[in-house]
Formats: sequence, C-alpha cells, structure tokens
Amino acid sequence: MKKMKSTLLFSLIAYLSGCASNSVLYKNQINNDVESLAKKYAKNDSDKIQIVKPIAHIFSYLKIEYSQKQWEKLSEKGSDTSKNLETHIQDIYGKSLYRIAGGEMQFKERYPFDAFSSLDTFSVGFVKIIVPNRIDSIERNVIISQLKNYTDTINAILSSDPELKERFDYGIKNMRNDGKIPLVLATNPNQAKDEGLKRSYAITNLGYYQKNRDTALFTARIATKYFGLISTSTMLHELVHAVVGIIEISPNKIAIPNTNIKNLQKIVDSMADSSQNMMIVEGIAESISQKYNPMYNSGYFNTVDQNISWQVKQYGHLHDMESAGKCYNGWFCSFDGRILALYEANSFVNYLIKEYGYSKVIRLAMCTSNDSNYISIFGKNKNEIFDQWKRTLLNPAKT
Ligand SMILES: [Zn+2]
Repeated sequence: MKKMKSTLLFSLIAYLSGCASNSVLYKNQINNDVESLAKKYAKNDSDKIQIVKPIAHIFSYLKIEYSQKQWEKLSEKGSDTSKNLETHIQDIYGKSLYRIAGGEMQFKERYPFDAFSSLDTFSVGFVKIIVPNRIDSIERNVIISQLKNYTDTINAILSSDPELKERFDYGIKNMRNDGKIPLVLATNPNQAKDEGLKRSYAITNLGYYQKNRDTALFTARIATKYFGLISTSTMLHELVHAVVGIIEISPNKIAIPNTNIKNLQKIVDSMADSSQNMMIVEGIAESISQKYNPMYNSGYFNTVDQNISWQVKQYGHLHDMESAGKCYNGWFCSFDGRILALYEANSFVNYLIKEYGYSKVIRLAMCTSNDSNYISIFGKNKNEIFDQWKRTLLNPAKT
C-alpha cells in the first residue's frame, strides 16, 4: 500500500502482477489435447464454460514451459479423481498453483491484443466494465455472470449490517461515473499504460474530494490486467478492495472502535501503518473473491487450509501472521512468502467470518491492529484469537 497522487487518499495494490516483456502467448496455444484434458475436469455444462478455458490456459503454459514427462504425467492423472487438479499439479510440478498461474504465467504472458481498439462498456450491478471490444462473447458472458453473482453477494453481505450498507450506498450514490465503480480490464500494453498499470500491478485507487462541508465525491477505479478468464480472480479480488475502501472513506456515522480516529485522513494513515491490517484487508479480498468464484468452487482446487498445509511442508513451519504481513507489504520477500502470507490472511479471515460474521471483520479492516480494537470488536485479545485460529488450522478435525 502506498500513497499515489495527491488527489488519492490511498491505493491498494493487488497481489497478482506481471509484466509483458515475454513474447509467449499461451492463450492462443490452446490446442486439442490441452482442451480435451481440461474438459476431463469439467463436471457439467456450466463448468465447461467457466472452468475449461482458464484450466486449458494453465495447461498450455505447463505443456510449453515444463518437461514432456511432467505433461504426460498430468495427462495420465486426468481420470484420477482421488485427488483434485491442484494436488496433481503440486505433486508433479512441486509448486503451488498460485505460484504458477499467479506468478510465473503473469510474468511470461503477453496481452491478448497488441493495439488499442474501441471500447466495450457495460454495467453489472454497481460496476461498470470497460474493456476493448475484441474480447470474445463467451468470455464477456462469463464476466457478466461472475460480476452479477458478486455484486449480489456483496450487497447481501452488507445488508446484514445496516451501518455498513448505509456507508456503501452513500459512497455509490456520490460516486462519479454515474454511480458505478469503473472496472477496466487492460488487454493490451497501451491500455495498461493509460491506466497507470506501471510495473504491471493490478491496482485499485480510491479518491476523495470534498465539494463542501457536507458532501463528499467519490472516485474509485479498478484496473487489472486481462489475459483471459484466468484473470477474473484478480478482477474479483480488486472489486472487494474497492467495496471495502468505499465503506472506509464514506463520511458516515459508523462507530470506529478506535476512539483516537477522528477523521478520514487518520483512518487512512492508520491503515497504511499497519501490516496486520493489510493482511485483514487482503484476507477479506481473497476470502470473498475465492468463496464466490466458480473456479474455486468447482472441486478442482484445494481449500486454502490444504494449501497452507502443503506450503508448511515446503517451509517446515507455519509463518505467523505479523511476519507474513510485513513480508507481503515489503515486496522484498520471496514470491512463495507472499503466497503463504495470502493463504494465511485468507484462512484467518475465513476463521473470523465463521466465528464472528462478516460485519465485524469488515470493521476490523478499518482499524489499526491492536488489542483494544480486537477486544472491542471480538471481546478477545489478538493473541487469543490468533491461537484459536492456529489450533483450528493445525487440527482441522476438531473444528
Ligand atoms: Zn489485494
């Protein structure tokens, strides 16, 4: 998280990033054997549309970049349903799927379109999509259905807490761009440059303008790289950031548990100071975007806790949240360290949501990470809650 232009109070930097320096374009290399293997994993017609394309995309990469022997092994596993696809990939390639699809591929992939073309814009719920019009109709429909599902889900989650809903609605009502959050999918380098996707981060910006003493004008913009349907997980992650960000800066009367926070700037400063808070913010984005993403619900992927167990086997120990948070924030740690930080943030937030509900977790994301905030929100101090989460993580049978 870092400050952007003076008009922006803060920006949230997404996890998925990449660069466009390599000329390999996996999307266009989905041939018959790759697609037929991906289809073996599809359980129904809906999967065929939503799942096969992203999986075939990953398979194309694995086939080209890794050995023929590994590809043959993965092909043989196509009919082995005793383990899911993600476990097969971990077993054969010795890497997490996050590392392969969220890291390696992003750095080697080229945008699907080289030049800028005319824009297709369409609204779904409180989001306005802006994308070059050459994206194919199947992908367009999947994006629409995912966003419909998401905006409905987010509205339902917020409806459980009238104060949060009021703040969000206030933000949307006072949003520039016709009361919709603009979501730009960058499909070519020029577009990414125009959107400020420098160094290839997917970013969410949220600005705040005071028109007069009583009125705020919101600006929010989501810009993510788009390589194909595989990129929708980034898009949904960013959308959650934008929603939480709007609630955070909405000048409404929510009771912020930390009484030292008197104004919006202090809320923003307190967020930027706290790596723990960063992990809650990232954890919410990961948790919601994965829980309601058809890709993650398809049964082809591990649960986040299974992935933590797998990572712990690689590392030999569980990282604690604080160091994971600092690691994520600093960008100096290994890529695997950041993955583990995100897995842990996701798992910890899942635990908090299960035990305490969404609205308390969203409130936590709006405060500094200290005992008094944990106690006022959850009635327990931070270490006690961490310990309980770790126990459920290490002893899943007891949960
Ligand atoms: Zn993020």
